[in-house]
Amino acid sequence: MRRVSVFGSTGSIGQSTLDLIGRGDFDVVALTGGANVTQLAADAIRLRAEVAVTAFDDRLEELRDALAGSGVEAAAGTAALEEAADRAADWTMSAIVGAAGLIPSLRALRHGGTLALANKESLVCAGPLLLSEAARRGATVLPVDSEHSAVFQALVGEDVAAVEKVVITASGGGLRDLPLESLRNATPEQAGMHPNWDMGQRITIDSASMFNKAMELIETKEFFGLPPAKIDTIIHPQSLIHALVQFADGAMMAHLGAADMRHAIGYALNWPDRRHLPVERLDLAQVARLEFHAPDPARYPALAIARGVMDRGGLSGAAFNAAKEVALDLFIARQMRFTDMAPLVERVLERLEARGCLEGDTMTLDMVLETDRIARETATAVASGDHAA
Ligand code: NAD
Ligand code: MG
Repeated sequence: MRRVSVFGSTGSIGQSTLDLIGRGDFDVVALTGGANVTQLAADAIRLRAEVAVTAFDDRLEELRDALAGSGVEAAAGTAALEEAADRAADWTMSAIVGAAGLIPSLRALRHGGTLALANKESLVCAGPLLLSEAARRGATVLPVDSEHSAVFQALVGEDVAAVEKVVITASGGGLRDLPLESLRNATPEQAGMHPNWDMGQRITIDSASMFNKAMELIETKEFFGLPPAKIDTIIHPQSLIHALVQFADGAMMAHLGAADMRHAIGYALNWPDRRHLPVERLDLAQVARLEFHAPDPARYPALAIARGVMDRGGLSGAAFNAAKEVALDLFIARQMRFTDMAPLVERVLERLEARGCLEGDTMTLDMVLETDRIARETATAVASGDHAA
């Protein structure tokens, strides 16, 4: 039986992953979550996991109580997350949200199995590091972001050198129809509603600002090793085409499917095979129409910021992600306007670049973590009006 672990099992991707794992024959090694200890314990008992880990030390007692008598080990904290990633698994889902997912992703690669990567932040912050570690350990990394899974599938049997362009689609997010002048007053509740996908709060708000698509442009560059000029995005309000790959002969291969993350997760779980998945089949006559339009740069300034990050490369991805996480925290806490997030991220990148913090041809984990720390510090200072930051 295949041994599997799920990092971030209590989240949106985590729960969809457990849904598929629960339908198959797997040995569950580790499940990890955050504050939702009740869910974590219930899943760990049901799936007979070896260990359940909460990221938060102060939740350990609660987790222990919930697991009492079940035979599932309880653990808490960052070191326990890393220890869980050290337990050999054939397949690991990386579905923690944010830069916190990077170290577990890197640790899981050490067994040389398969890493199903939903945590896009790992690639944005440390793409070269992650992929070189995977190569060194003989591990396979499979994309779980729907767009990247779609590109991956369109490239099966193809020569990447013949790729002219990769286009990842964007829904436009929950505020796509809000008049531009009203965007500055958008609330976290409004931005936290997605027209097509049911996802975690942070990625849903990132979809409204298109910081999510900005991250995904960088993720495309890192994962597929394509030059930035060959990577583009387009608004496709129905979210039925997830990505398109255009080849040297002018052919475009599109990947279509229902907006259900269990497709991309299941593809990574069954790869290189294709097996039955319990996802809705598209009725194209019912769909009738697929629409596309170019994103408005004034509405989605995050896209231009991502272009700068793709061109600069190196540590700018880690700085970009960290500044974005701080901006998002402030927006969720109602301490920052929706439209002030992109200018904050831009300012942090400018300052770090001016201070020479983003330079360097090599990339180590320490450099990534240090860049993440400085960018968070700078973002917090700039947001609080500290002009010396
Ligand atoms: P979510 O918020 O629903 O779940 C996040 C998970 O991470 C939870 O289990 C939570 O307990 C855990 N977590 C949160 N903070 C943590 C920390 N500091 N340390 C350890 N664990 C922590 O998020 P999600 O929507 O499932 O997204 C997970 C990842 O997958 C993100 O990187 C997201 O960008 C990516 N992704 C999600 C979707 C989607 O449909 N939800 C689609 C594509 C990519
Ligand atoms: Mg996506």
